[in-house]
Amino acid sequence: MELREHMGPFEAVNYYFERAAEIDDVPESTRAMLRMPASELRVEVPLRRDNGELEVYVGYRVQHDSSRGPFKGGIRYHPAAEVEEVRALASLMTWKTAVVDVPFGGGKGGVQIDSRGLSIGEKERLTRTYTRGISGIIGAHHDIPAPDMNTDAQTMAWIVDEYSQLKGYTPAVVTGKPVALGGSYGREAATGRGCVVTMEEAVSDAGIDPAGATVAVQGFGNVGSWAARIAHERGYKVVAVSNEVGTVYSGDGLPIPELVDHVKRTKTLEDFGSVEWLPAEDVLTLPVDVLLPAAIGEVIHVDNVDRVQCKVIVEGANHPVTPWADAALNERGVLIVPDILANAGGVMTSYFEWVQNIQQFRWDEEEVNSRLTRRLTHAYDQVREVSKQRRISMREAAFVLAVARVAEASALRGAI
Ligand code: NAD
Repeated sequence: MELREHMGPFEAVNYYFERAAEIDDVPESTRAMLRMPASELRVEVPLRRDNGELEVYVGYRVQHDSSRGPFKGGIRYHPAAEVEEVRALASLMTWKTAVVDVPFGGGKGGVQIDSRGLSIGEKERLTRTYTRGISGIIGAHHDIPAPDMNTDAQTMAWIVDEYSQLKGYTPAVVTGKPVALGGSYGREAATGRGCVVTMEEAVSDAGIDPAGATVAVQGFGNVGSWAARIAHERGYKVVAVSNEVGTVYSGDGLPIPELVDHVKRTKTLEDFGSVEWLPAEDVLTLPVDVLLPAAIGEVIHVDNVDRVQCKVIVEGANHPVTPWADAALNERGVLIVPDILANAGGVMTSYFEWVQNIQQFRWDEEEVNSRLTRRLTHAYDQVREVSKQRRISMREAAFVLAVARVAEASALRGAI
């Protein structure tokens, strides 16, 4: 597949897939199976607003591949959650679960809605309607959703309840639940924690002194705020964090715990003490050691890649760098920890949650965190090894490992 300046999200994921399949000589018949999703469901999601008006939204659940285990992947509420985007994210989940070797496949769901203005009651009704729509194809041993953009533990609790009313009590149908409802200790922070675990490896590989290394984080939601908190705890200087409105910057490092409290209280990053307030996009082009995009996809692209100044990029978000920008950054020697490795702490801890649910057992937070760190570091080591041996980027290496694992499982299962 030819590299172009502009590629759709699904095309971009398949660009990496095809390159890996080529490097590993995966037969065309297996490639054909893995290129496209196994199934895609589109559901109508009517929503009765609090003022009595009825609005109708569209939702999807895309199941990409289940050769290695049940479909697994989050649900997002976002205006850009079109089918192509959801398809790309489902495919990324197949490669993510494979690269970190958890026994799941890949899936993703989304409702195309700007959920920010919804009341709690409206969000609950939307979630229950969407859950009924996809209830026929999800299940604890078939397809297991989790939180993603604008969905959280409360959203998962509604899904468990709605699904359980239809099919009997099934906490393992989703992960990322509240702890009181079968959730796992450590799950909420897991994706951010995983970003920091892989960041530490990358900082060392890039020859950066971790003491006082500077970090900029785009997005201050679940992934961004936890990554910033944990990086701050470990002595990194988090100099900038942002959301869609602007960037908070302090060259001396931001007091992240206070900023987290401020956002909890005011629901905004603005008006926080004596720090600089910069335009939202500036977070991407600051002269920092590490850039950690943790918001939306395709934020580093042909038009801004020349202005990116960091030495390491840790992809907290899914596909934040377009293939064109990825090639340009590789050329310049920027070390990129790819999404399917950097943000895999979430799905890994989701796997731990699912295992605990299935066994009706609970691990303490220390055990969850230490298992996460051990397994993610091992996955990073394996990717680094392939990258070194084959003289390819960390992203190419991660895809080579993942595609080989999925192709092997798919071939062993056979096709009708
Ligand atoms: P979230 O909804 O909790 O937070 C998203 C954050 O991004 C918010 O702070 C929002 O203000 C900000 N944002 C949105 N649009 C922006 C823009 N245009 N510019 C700057 N900031 C913007 O979502 P999340 O769960 O933290 O997910 C963030 C990313 O991480 C997504 O790409 C998601 O797919 C990925 N991810 C999440 C998880 C998880 O466990 N939650 C796991 C793996 C990957």
